[in-house]
Amino acid sequence: MIPYGKQSIDQTDIDAVIDVLNSDWLTQGPKVPQFEKAVVDYTGSKNAIAVNSATSALHIACLALNVAAGDLVWTSPISFVASSNCALYCGATVDFIDINQATGNMCTIELERKLIIAKKNEQLPKVIIPVHLAGQSCDMKRIYALSLEYGFSIIEDASHAIGAKYQNKPVGNCQYSDICVFSFHPVKIITSAEGGMATTNDPELARKMQLLRSHGVTSVDTEMTEPSHGPWYYQQISLGFNYRMSDIHAALGLSQLQKVDTFVAKRHKLANLYVELLDDTLVTPLVQTNNTYSAYHLFIVQLKVPCKTKHRELVTQLRSQNIIGHVHYIPIHLQPYYQALGFEPGDYLNAECYYDGAVTLPLYPELTIEQVQYVVKTVHDILS
Ligand SMILES: *Cc1c(COP(=O)(O)O)cnc(C)c1O
Repeated sequence: MIPYGKQSIDQTDIDAVIDVLNSDWLTQGPKVPQFEKAVVDYTGSKNAIAVNSATSALHIACLALNVAAGDLVWTSPISFVASSNCALYCGATVDFIDINQATGNMCTIELERKLIIAKKNEQLPKVIIPVHLAGQSCDMKRIYALSLEYGFSIIEDASHAIGAKYQNKPVGNCQYSDICVFSFHPVKIITSAEGGMATTNDPELARKMQLLRSHGVTSVDTEMTEPSHGPWYYQQISLGFNYRMSDIHAALGLSQLQKVDTFVAKRHKLANLYVELLDDTLVTPLVQTNNTYSAYHLFIVQLKVPCKTKHRELVTQLRSQNIIGHVHYIPIHLQPYYQALGFEPGDYLNAECYYDGAVTLPLYPELTIEQVQYVVKTVHDILS
């Protein structure tokens, strides 16, 4: 069986976890700040806040930017549901920006068109969440320019994109965003089993997220409303959650981070092989744009002619031949929960058309050249 994605765990990862188990601290020890520091060093951002998932990171990122009832948050319909659920958790209203079909990322022309209308109607979004699909950065420079013109904040959902670059700089440096979020779920580029991280260059946002991940509780004197009662004293100053990452998870994440560039390089080699071998009259890989270096979390191809029946047949037949093809993603607005909020088929046509033709083929560092050849041959056999 060839899965669509798979973690790579070696003896150093195992040893790192065992060291924590043998130490005094299973949680709230030294490993979380070490992992955060390593992500700061790797991305070039000023702050990193580790949490127990990217979903939690997206939630506290929205809260730190004061997203609340009455606010609008816009994201991409081609993403995992967590990209938009985070806004709903805060009581905000969600809307979507249709995608560019070639890259699968948020279309900046469509974004601008929608902003012009929203400005006229005085319904501008408070936050926009671009999603770096499959690990390729969105056009952040353009989105940032629009944010200055229309006054919204930006959270990058970079769940797929640790190890990716934009304009030759690491995704996560927050040059064009307020906050950037990574996921360390096992199917992603590096893993901490479960885990996520938010990076930001704004010390105030960083502090807000630190409080929100741990009950809104502070032990810092200057943040308290009255002098400390003594060494045991703490105060709850906001309504936070228990979204902390444990030291066991952080140790695994930290160990994995040392290998992120090797993982991404291997993914690139295999992706390039797919591109070379695949018959481009049958399927087209997602287009890679200038200024981006994808982390290649996923290798997505689109049927030359999108077609529900053929799409379903391809994924089903791949699976019957032990290749776990997948589809990333079902447009969020078509989920029953979102349709109940008022969205309907036809709302975002590019996303829906993309859904009828997009297939994720297996890609992970330990996939072999022979396996890529087998997948390509099987795809060709099914489609021709
Ligand atoms: C995986 C994923 C998430 C959620 O990540 P978790 O760490 O599992 O919470 C959010 N957004 C996107 C785009 C993802 O792929």
